[in-house]
Amino acid sequence: MSEIIVTLPDKSKKKFKSKVSVLDIASSIGEGLARAAIAGEINGKPVDLDTQITADSDLKILTFKDEKGKQIFWHSTAHLLAQAVKELFPDAVLAIGPAIENGFYYDFDVKKPFSLEDFEKIEAKMNELAKQDLKITRETKSKKEAIDLFEKQGNRYKKEILEQNIKGDSASFYTQGNFSDMCIGPHLPGTGKIQAVKLLKVAGAYWKGNEKNKMLQRIYGISFPDKKQLKEFIGLQEEAQKRDHRKIGKALDLFSFHPASAGCVYWHPKGFIIFNELENFWRQEHIKRGYTEIQTPQIFNKSLWEQSGHWEHYKDEMFTFKVDDEVYSLKPMDCPDSIVVYQTKKRSYRELPLRFNEIGRIFRNELSGTLGGLFRVRQITQDDAHIFAMPDQIQKEISRIIEFVKSFYAIFDFNPEIYLSTRPDKAMGSKEMWDKAESDLKKALEANNMEYGLKEKDGAFYGPKIDIHMRDCLNRDWQLATIQLDFQLPNRFKIRYVGSDGKEHEPVMIHRVIFGSFERFIGILIEEFAGAFPLWLAPVQTTVIPIADRHNKYAEKIAGTLRENGVRVEIDSRQEKVEYKIREAQLQKVPYVLVLGDREEQNNTITVRDRSGKVEQKVNVNEFLSKTLKEIAEKTIKS
Ligand SMILES: [Zn+2]
Ligand SMILES: [Zn+2]
Repeated sequence: MSEIIVTLPDKSKKKFKSKVSVLDIASSIGEGLARAAIAGEINGKPVDLDTQITADSDLKILTFKDEKGKQIFWHSTAHLLAQAVKELFPDAVLAIGPAIENGFYYDFDVKKPFSLEDFEKIEAKMNELAKQDLKITRETKSKKEAIDLFEKQGNRYKKEILEQNIKGDSASFYTQGNFSDMCIGPHLPGTGKIQAVKLLKVAGAYWKGNEKNKMLQRIYGISFPDKKQLKEFIGLQEEAQKRDHRKIGKALDLFSFHPASAGCVYWHPKGFIIFNELENFWRQEHIKRGYTEIQTPQIFNKSLWEQSGHWEHYKDEMFTFKVDDEVYSLKPMDCPDSIVVYQTKKRSYRELPLRFNEIGRIFRNELSGTLGGLFRVRQITQDDAHIFAMPDQIQKEISRIIEFVKSFYAIFDFNPEIYLSTRPDKAMGSKEMWDKAESDLKKALEANNMEYGLKEKDGAFYGPKIDIHMRDCLNRDWQLATIQLDFQLPNRFKIRYVGSDGKEHEPVMIHRVIFGSFERFIGILIEEFAGAFPLWLAPVQTTVIPIADRHNKYAEKIAGTLRENGVRVEIDSRQEKVEYKIREAQLQKVPYVLVLGDREEQNNTITVRDRSGKVEQKVNVNEFLSKTLKEIAEKTIKS
């Protein structure tokens, strides 16, 4: 037998004399890796650790650090959950149990819904079975054997999956202890790797998501290879609940939703202040950088989307309706409309780069089940911009946009993470054009001293792009800004400019957003600041509290001075105790509370209490005003 060459992800090669298991290879690299190993990936295909390699292959050892490794780990824990449920509730019928983005679930057909006490028992049983470190093995049964088994078990769900989804005439099963489940795998080598388990919630779920089918009980959970990671996860969960923008949005009276317009935001006065402040800031920054703002319609004849190509790709996400027997839609994106504006006259190279910014009010027909607070809505406000440029202006223009994004995020203390996505296999335009564009983007990133990750072949078919992400205080990753080059739309719409040679040329189009959407961005801000916004965004910047009724007039005077200078002030003259009113203002996260009584009135001063509880007495109101205005103008973030 000839020797086997295994190529590892770092391109290093290992030679073996005869067939060898994935786990053996992991051990040959290091004992630590062998312990952390969850599964392998041979030539891109995930496999169990005991899989034998018999021919030259590429191999990656998957651990919990890999997304795929996590998925296998969590899916294996779903089996453990099913095993525990079957031991405690032998009548439960198993449906499906996949891994999800954060953990796993398993659907059970049971007579009585699971209670929270059941959770404790199930968790304890899972831990017990994990401790036994049961070996997990794979075997194959013929389809007939499997069907007989499911009929005997009275499991119509597995039978249905087998009949509808499994091609070929056999099915694989994974067994641990006396529990066995049909599954493609791969799986952990044993239950002992699962060191920490937490069941999170139970919810009703229809079989196959169809409400005509039976409602099953879905148990969600998460698991980790060590207990410390579970502790961290629970800490983050608790923090996330405290910071949930839907909860804070209600407590601070910022926005609401109503079934009359599911997925569309009702901005209340206080929330709309934040929206408007962001919009004003955004507008000012664009004026400074030579953009001109446009506003285009919200309903369009579908012919425009046919020309742009959106109809072909996005039809299902669009809201359509008929006008005079013609199909119209609500706007799903702004791009073709800025082209319409571009084309209203002959353009000269002297006008380029031509930068249109637009507050785009767009609509996407998201499924009801996927809507979630401000993070996923049907009516989206985009901070869009479209730039028309000559090909040799790309590098400089992209560089300007990167500088723009950087300075924007610095205002919010966000640390951007940048990714460059390159030419996909199916791409429009010549290879030379792509190479040039990609190198322009790289140079622009380097000119700004930006470190970036490469996403090979992940560009849109119409051009390469730069995506800018941020990681929030809960360690969640958000994609916010995106900068996309587009060779396609200019071609589809035949847009031109007259060059210095007097001839017509095709410009390149750059699509660009910075916030992404106002709704989502505000949701992120609410959670990031836990409602305690920097002064410039705070809906109420100062609450004035007169100690007794006789101080109301003085309170009015002070508030008047601040208000005239553009500070957002509220007076709390209710007949409540001062302490109560201070506490209320603190819960509302008001940055400054001014307490006014006899002493303040006699000396013509104010007492200032900030959000951290620090109190300063005998403050001159003009001094406070100028400090406040400075803090607003500088958009200071106080920690
Ligand atoms: Zn499985
Ligand atoms: Zn666009």
